[in-house]
Amino acid sequence: EAKRCGKGKICAYSSNLRDKSGTRLNIEQNLYGAVERNEFELFYQPIIDLADFRLIGFEALLRWNHPASGLLEPGQFVHVAEEVGFIDCIGNWVVAEALKQLNSWNEVGQGQLFMAVNVSAGQFKNEQFTRQIQDALDTYQLPPHLLEIEITEAMLQDFHQSRKVVNSLREIGVRVAIDDFGAGYSSMALLKHLPVSRIKIDRSFVIALPGAERDLGMVAAIMQMAKSLDLDVTAEGIETAEQARILSELGCQTIQGYYFGHPMGAYDYSNGWISLGMGKNYFLPRPGR
Ligand code: C2E
Ligand code: MG
Ligand code: MG
Ligand code: MG
Repeated sequence: EAKRCGKGKICAYSSNLRDKSGTRLNIEQNLYGAVERNEFELFYQPIIDLADFRLIGFEALLRWNHPASGLLEPGQFVHVAEEVGFIDCIGNWVVAEALKQLNSWNEVGQGQLFMAVNVSAGQFKNEQFTRQIQDALDTYQLPPHLLEIEITEAMLQDFHQSRKVVNSLREIGVRVAIDDFGAGYSSMALLKHLPVSRIKIDRSFVIALPGAERDLGMVAAIMQMAKSLDLDVTAEGIETAEQARILSELGCQTIQGYYFGHPMGAYDYSNGWISLGMGKNYFLPRPGR
């Protein structure tokens, strides 16, 4: 991996990134060996079925405990990891860690929670990708349909290649979601030609609700399209009870957002309860000790 590291190119990124105190973050240098040093952590955000306010799954969201700058969000380092060729290695860690956690939650739970995992273009282009996913599923003996791989429209630039990967994931039973749906440019064509299982309505359509007639219309149109294509839909970025109610009225029952839960580390769920807003608490099975 070290050999693939394009030093000159990266300095530009590194010198542009500063932490809150203004200190330059040496992202590239510190990324090196970060997996081995156990510096990455997954946060999990609950995904809720509004029909009965049930927890149905989680989205795994990557965090990096940077040695000098504390907890970093993906926006601060994933593009660098892509650039230096570390994203495969990190991405494999993410899939394995997310499935391990899901396995331990599901082992003692009555329900079958699913896990949504984000991937980068670099991972998705890798010929070995489906194989790596299959290996992780085997390791934790998880049914493939409990894993949902989230891709974005921007990742589908080489459409022929992307479709091959989506097809191969679907062949092994893994579900595929289009993340940030509607934020890109080619949504409709994508859906026509890709066997995806779900679309995730981009937060930008939800953020101004209630009161934004045009957004309301967009969401309604997306819902109608999803229905006729038999796609599952999740709305992202639900921050208020009112937004949840509106989405529900538009027929969107699967919801994710700060209103129902911020992303949190597995340890923060270990008391066995998560708060899902509206005064409701739902039991999350405690892994066996
Ligand atoms: P995403 O997949 O669209 O994830 C949703 C993002 O929105 C997360 O930001 C989440 O914390 C945030 N969010 C969730 N609910 C709300 C809400 O109600 N209001 C607001 N304002 N924000 C909300 P985060 O964790 O910073 O992740 C940002 C992006 O980084 C993700 O967007 C995803 O594209 C990428 N990412 C996250 N984890 C991974 C990973 O393991 N691998 C790769 N390649 N990319 C990742
Ligand atoms: Mg964030
Ligand atoms: Mg996502
Ligand atoms: Mg999203």
